[in-house]
Amino acid sequence: MGNTENIYDIGIIGGGTAGMTAAIYGQRAGKKTVIIEGSTFGGQITSSPNVENYPGIASVSGSEFSMNLLDQATKLGAETVMEEVTGIRDEGKLKVIETAGKEYQCRSVILATGVTHRHLGVPNEERLTGAGVSYCATCDGMFFRGRDVAVVGGGSTALQDAEFLSNYCRKVYLIHRRDEFRGEDSIVKRLEGKENVEFVLSTTVKEIIGKTSVERLILNNKKTGKEYKLEVSGVFIAVGQIPRNEAFEDVVKLDGSGFILAAEDCVTSHPGIFAAGDCRTKEVRQLTTAAADGAVAALAACKYIAE
Ligand code: NAP
Repeated sequence: MGNTENIYDIGIIGGGTAGMTAAIYGQRAGKKTVIIEGSTFGGQITSSPNVENYPGIASVSGSEFSMNLLDQATKLGAETVMEEVTGIRDEGKLKVIETAGKEYQCRSVILATGVTHRHLGVPNEERLTGAGVSYCATCDGMFFRGRDVAVVGGGSTALQDAEFLSNYCRKVYLIHRRDEFRGEDSIVKRLEGKENVEFVLSTTVKEIIGKTSVERLILNNKKTGKEYKLEVSGVFIAVGQIPRNEAFEDVVKLDGSGFILAAEDCVTSHPGIFAAGDCRTKEVRQLTTAAADGAVAALAACKYIAE
């Protein structure tokens, strides 16, 4: 067993927008908080070149937004540690957050572990991320005004992305590996009526090509076995999201996809443990909703501690 730290009022697991907002609200309520983050403070938004949909901020880079949040939280007194959390133990009044080498005793816990976008795993996908490869149409779509782009995926996110992009882009190719969409029929019908949207079905992306930014895709038609090039300057990958909550499945209930079961009140199946942001079951996963959850969860945690 590792060292035992001081007792925190709120232990926050995950240093993305939800977690850092929770810390800001916790500290401002006079609570001692710690944010435990395994990789990058800021989370998903750090990879967005420009955020233009956060109310009150017309334009800011994702990394600057994250730095500001971190700065705000730490100036208010939130502690931060860079460690991978391996589990949570409930010891009645105290919950113990376990990492590889340490333990953090907390009166309440907020899970703000976010999600990661599933990647295609094709050549050049990582290298061209932020240079034509995007996992967020609502964040980056505006940069492709008047251009030809592709959306990859067949779920509701891909369909919504294609519809959103069709308002700005000259042409939107919707590439799906099967010939039937998984997402909502009503959006499929609307897309069928759009002149600048073309379905590319039973097709997979083999490779993304581009020197400094995306220039074209190499596609494979699964029915004919034919390989061909598609010229696009952007590719929006919407092939599902993966939550990272395996370490907590013994303490909180998850849904079939691994999201933490919690409603708008951020209350989980376990008293004293709250879930905020993309890691919980919800419809809209945006920066604004993550921030809102951070506030809701922190205030719920403050109430729990006082009971
Ligand atoms: P999703 O429903 O899991 O769909 C992922 C899509 O990506 C599927 O069509 C899947 O193909 C495809 N895919 C997965 N791995 C792939 C790979 N390696 N290569 C190529 N294609 C791949 O994900 P989502 O669209 O992000 O939606 C997630 C959840 O949020 C769903 O429950 C959805 O209903 C919900 N959602 C709701 C709304 C709404 O407004 N109500 C909006 C967005 C999302 P297959 O179909 O062949 O498996």
